[in-house]
Amino acid sequence: MIKVVPLGAGQDVGRSCILVSIGDDSTGIKNIMFDCGMHMGYNDDRRFPDFSYISKTKRFTEQLDCVIISHFHLDHCGALPFFTEMCGYAGPIYMTHPTKAICPILLEDYRKITVERKGDTNFFTSQMIKNCMKKVTAVNLHQTIKVNNDDDLEIKAYYAGHVLGAAMFYVRVGTQSVVYTGDYNMTPDRHLGAAWIDKVQPDLLITESTYATTIRDSKRSRERDFLKKVHDCVSQGGKVLIPVFALGRAQELCILIETYWERNNLNVPVYFSAGMTERANDYYKLFINWTNEKIKNTFVNRNMFDFKHIKPWDRQYVDLPGAAVLFATPGMLHIGTSLEVFKKWAPFPENMVIMPGFCVAGTVGAKVLNGDKEIQVDAYNKVQVNLQVKNLSFSAHADAKGIMQLIKQCAPKNVMLVHGEKAKMEFLQDKIRRECRVPCTCPANGETVTIETPLSIPVDISVDLLKRHLNAQKLSLPLPGERIDLTKITPVDEIPIQGVLVMEPDRIPRLIEVEEAIREARLPILDIDFKTFKTFDPKQFQDKNMISNLEETDIRVQVLEYVYEVVNKAISKNIPGIELHKGLLEIKLRSVTVSLPETIKDEFKNALHITWNSKDQNLADFLISIMDDILPDMPNL
Ligand SMILES: [Zn+2]
Repeated sequence: MIKVVPLGAGQDVGRSCILVSIGDDSTGIKNIMFDCGMHMGYNDDRRFPDFSYISKTKRFTEQLDCVIISHFHLDHCGALPFFTEMCGYAGPIYMTHPTKAICPILLEDYRKITVERKGDTNFFTSQMIKNCMKKVTAVNLHQTIKVNNDDDLEIKAYYAGHVLGAAMFYVRVGTQSVVYTGDYNMTPDRHLGAAWIDKVQPDLLITESTYATTIRDSKRSRERDFLKKVHDCVSQGGKVLIPVFALGRAQELCILIETYWERNNLNVPVYFSAGMTERANDYYKLFINWTNEKIKNTFVNRNMFDFKHIKPWDRQYVDLPGAAVLFATPGMLHIGTSLEVFKKWAPFPENMVIMPGFCVAGTVGAKVLNGDKEIQVDAYNKVQVNLQVKNLSFSAHADAKGIMQLIKQCAPKNVMLVHGEKAKMEFLQDKIRRECRVPCTCPANGETVTIETPLSIPVDISVDLLKRHLNAQKLSLPLPGERIDLTKITPVDEIPIQGVLVMEPDRIPRLIEVEEAIREARLPILDIDFKTFKTFDPKQFQDKNMISNLEETDIRVQVLEYVYEVVNKAISKNIPGIELHKGLLEIKLRSVTVSLPETIKDEFKNALHITWNSKDQNLADFLISIMDDILPDMPNL
């Protein structure tokens, strides 16, 4: 059984934190935390997950077997120093090498802004970030890791695209397994490849669903659209603000602008503000294997992130007259340079802001996307929003098509949607149930979902039994040398495979024919005969005048005649090849015999006698069910 409860990102975007309990009696129950994120929309307690759900007494290390971080975005790792240094979790933490390298920079950036500019006191310190990162184990893609040297708890990372170092994680406990995607992208972009996973057939796939209802148009047309908007605005003398996430879309959009400026000989100044641009470059070089082929090749010749037209931003440029383009972090306008510049440029209609596809609810970015004309940006300031607001879904999340693609790729038995908005999730949930035919849930934060995991034991099946089963399913037997398509002979509910399961020490269990099992065990073969009576209501025949000469003939003979006709028809239709014999006072289907009762007891005056051998149980069931249909019992008087 697998139990899942989101502490964050349940029917919401931001503060990703998913608790999974997985395992059974043989492996023990393992508790895993996927991501430990913060919520950008809040400045109070709600910004971190409610860890008291795990343990009221802060016994987190005993409760959790490990924490797994999918990528460096703060809504996936922002609460980690808080959890380890301020709540006391001291167990294993896993992330990929690039995530481990970049994560502390983003955390430190965020800490600076929160503590030094906003004056927040209940927050982690620089030293805490450092101490926290020392506890992290970095993993490679496709490397199988045994957590705590436990043979029953394995994890494995797969490439997720999205941002540098982003990974999906496969977790196996005994025969049960879960895949957690984090954020991923199924289409390669200008610097990263597409997400990819083995067909691991997990019991549960927990997938993000940020763009659950979107099917985006082609990459090329989105790029053209973006460049045209920027060009139109600057040629009218306007300023274009492009809020970006450091490391990610920023690099991709810069490459676009740089090429376009070069080709069209433009000289409008373009700036980049993120404090990490320089460092970003180093990281891409360092983790070149995580980028796509094109970037890998380009790096050999020149530095992909050395730009001719894009210059570093200086705070005083904000009041300069004339057209300009600025890439600034963060992407959701909740803090930092992008917000600072937005406040200055927003009142003027000739300016433009090009928003990323998604902003967490509560952020200034979300309000801008919502079309608000007056926005409260902090405790004292309101901003009039008159500039043009454009929305470009350049974000590196999978769209509906991509999510369906991933489901097909890894073939899960159950799907859970997280990291998305409720209404959109419900739409996708319906689509997944219909098209993939797997159960799909989307729990809210704090809501527990239980997934049953049937124990599966591989079994060898004997050829005789398999042949009989193929016959029963009316599937043709394979020709000699031909391979059987195993997907066609899975047991179906209507035709179960019946046999004897033989289990011996140190051997795979075998499913064989009953006779084979008896022979092997050197047991005497015993035949068991059964008998029963089937009563009928004589009125049924008198009323309908179905039988003539009632006075002269025993009614039971007439009823037997009737049964013969109906059964004969049913047999020639359903089981050709078996013959129904008719004697003077009996009918016979192999060992199944229907006859007149010998006893002259009154209660059997209106009854037929049925006998059969255990070998023909299925035939007897077939015949009895027909007789039950055509011969209703006598009503109780
Ligand atoms: Zn992300």
